[in-house]
Amino acid sequence: MDEKIVLVDTDITTLAVDAIVNAANNSLLGGGGVDGAIHRVAGPQLLAECQTLGGCPTGAARITKGYNLPARHVIHTVGPVWQGGNHGEPQLLAGCYRSCFALARKYRLRTLAFPAISTGVYGYPKEEAARIAVHEIRQALAANPELAEVLLVCFNPATRAAYEQALRQS
Ligand code: ADP
Repeated sequence: MDEKIVLVDTDITTLAVDAIVNAANNSLLGGGGVDGAIHRVAGPQLLAECQTLGGCPTGAARITKGYNLPARHVIHTVGPVWQGGNHGEPQLLAGCYRSCFALARKYRLRTLAFPAISTGVYGYPKEEAARIAVHEIRQALAANPELAEVLLVCFNPATRAAYEQALRQS
């Protein structure tokens, strides 16, 4: 299944996939990092749709249209803030990936692109986050044959190294 997992070094807002995933916050009303970049490119209609959603719990996900993005949809998920690892962070981060893939199945999405959720401002260690991401993606690819490709966006070399290491482990 790993042949369907592709590492890409780019800005996620340039990708013409069925859905890009946004590392959002609980309000879903925009923020910094990848969230800010996505809202800037998508335009104000994205914020308007997000305002109708009533926020999102950590570990869950919500889907919107992509508006001015090349991607058809945005799946907004809220990763955990790293607090040392004993506050349910691994389960919550795995929940993000599961919630995104549940929406992918419901909306019959075939191509998805993920940023490294929680590893920016939220401080999750990159190697541990990459291991969880790869584990959940492998499970989802095995369970949903309609998924054609999952892109993992490496916005910096450390993120790429973490994914490469995680992919070497079975
Ligand atoms: P979080 O609050 O979940 O940590 P961040 O947006 O701060 O979210 O960071 C998540 C990841 O997204 C980090 O690896 C960061 O380098 C990356 N990132 C930031 N901007 C972009 C972008 N435009 N495209 C793809 N990845 C990005």
